[in-house]
Amino acid sequence: MRILKFGGTSMSDAKTWQQVIDIIKRYESPFVVVSATARTTRELIKAARTALVDVEEAHRIASDIKRRHKEIITVFFDEHQSEESVLDNCNKWIDQRTEELETQLEAISSEQEITEQKKDAIASIGEQLSSYLFAQCASATGIATQWIDAADIIRTDSDFGQANPDENYIANQAPSLKKLIIKGNIPVMGGYYGMDKNGQTTTLGFEGSDYSASLIGAALDAEAIEIWTDVSGIYTCDPRFVPDAQPIPQLSFQEATELAYFGAKVLHPATTKPASKKQIPIWVKNIFDPDEPGTCISSESTKNGPVKAITYKQNCTIVTVTSSQTVMGYEFLAGVFDILRWHHLAVDVVTTTEASVSIGIENGDNLDNAIEQLNSYGSVEILNNQGIISLVGCSNENSLVTDILSKVKNVPQNLISYSKFKGNLNIVVDEDQVLPVVKDIHQKLFS
Ligand code: ADP
Ligand code: MG
Repeated sequence: MRILKFGGTSMSDAKTWQQVIDIIKRYESPFVVVSATARTTRELIKAARTALVDVEEAHRIASDIKRRHKEIITVFFDEHQSEESVLDNCNKWIDQRTEELETQLEAISSEQEITEQKKDAIASIGEQLSSYLFAQCASATGIATQWIDAADIIRTDSDFGQANPDENYIANQAPSLKKLIIKGNIPVMGGYYGMDKNGQTTTLGFEGSDYSASLIGAALDAEAIEIWTDVSGIYTCDPRFVPDAQPIPQLSFQEATELAYFGAKVLHPATTKPASKKQIPIWVKNIFDPDEPGTCISSESTKNGPVKAITYKQNCTIVTVTSSQTVMGYEFLAGVFDILRWHHLAVDVVTTTEASVSIGIENGDNLDNAIEQLNSYGSVEILNNQGIISLVGCSNENSLVTDILSKVKNVPQNLISYSKFKGNLNIVVDEDQVLPVVKDIHQKLFS
């Protein structure tokens, strides 16, 4: 049994829904996980933020989301015969979810506050819409789908916005899911969201549907997890910006995790965790070119070339904290990292001296608050508008100097970290230099 996950790009309109259905039909008893339709999650969050300042505009965003979903099902059912009651059900579902959204937007406007909890309840509406509607559409083409509410399966803690799944609880749902599948049903579940033990909706973080698919794969002991998207696998660099990037046939779980962590947004960084524990391979494949082999991520690691892939993040900051000398070195570092932990900030690059630490970090809502607190640990210097270039799977140290650093020699390198053990090199440069440098290094290494 395979888990098939389809992302937002695959869920964008009635035409791609049909393409997804054609792919599902190639499989015997799969389990399907879908994301929200393209742009919907972003629009939902925008509506929530807008409700604070202009509730009318927030309602306009909500009604646009409603209109787009009604359009998808209308076009789909124009081309596929089905009983009128099915279309009615779908319309009713869209109306109900939009009403819920509008109630939440009103609450934000009157309370003048968006809690993480409210944000999750709103953000999950995208998958609640897409998964139910898609299950109805697929069923109208003759496949026996069964909609599954992720709230019933993906139990998490209450860390809203970035909830941690309870893998034991999820595993306990496996027998009933398996029973469904044995009876010939194809479960269709929305990714990204779940529920905590108090019945509150949670989300697994941005792009969390990949993670949902992997959690289900591990719980059901799937033969493979297939992440279907709009490119033919994981490439040597983002193919949208580096046109000569090539798909990588094979990556280890660790390499894929690092690529995702350092900005390759084709995969949620936690996706590999449940799969690698059970040694279940993950495939990344293209809905527009389903016969292309794609990338296989497994415990196998192959060596070809000095570097596996290059990735990058923009919108980063270097924060340098210098000790006020009232604390010992180890206490100083522990204190600094404790503040970052408290604000849920993940460090990308770090270097230290005896009395200072420089950290390369992605900008986020919490960074300003963290910086304010860091001021109590010493003097803080900030370098804005930074970008982090990461090379993953470096297996030849000689080429680091000749092929890679030589390509950056005319650009200020503001922070560098390298680990031979993890085969990972990170270079922080000014943001506007990121793309030219990435293209240069990519050409040197891969062309
Ligand atoms: P989905 O909607 O299917 O989840 P995403 O937009 O999340 O799709 O991920 C696919 C996109 O990831 C691609 O269109 C590509 O531009 C981008 N991407 C970034 N880095 C890479 C990479 N190294 N390999 C492949 N795609 C990448
Ligand atoms: Mg994605």
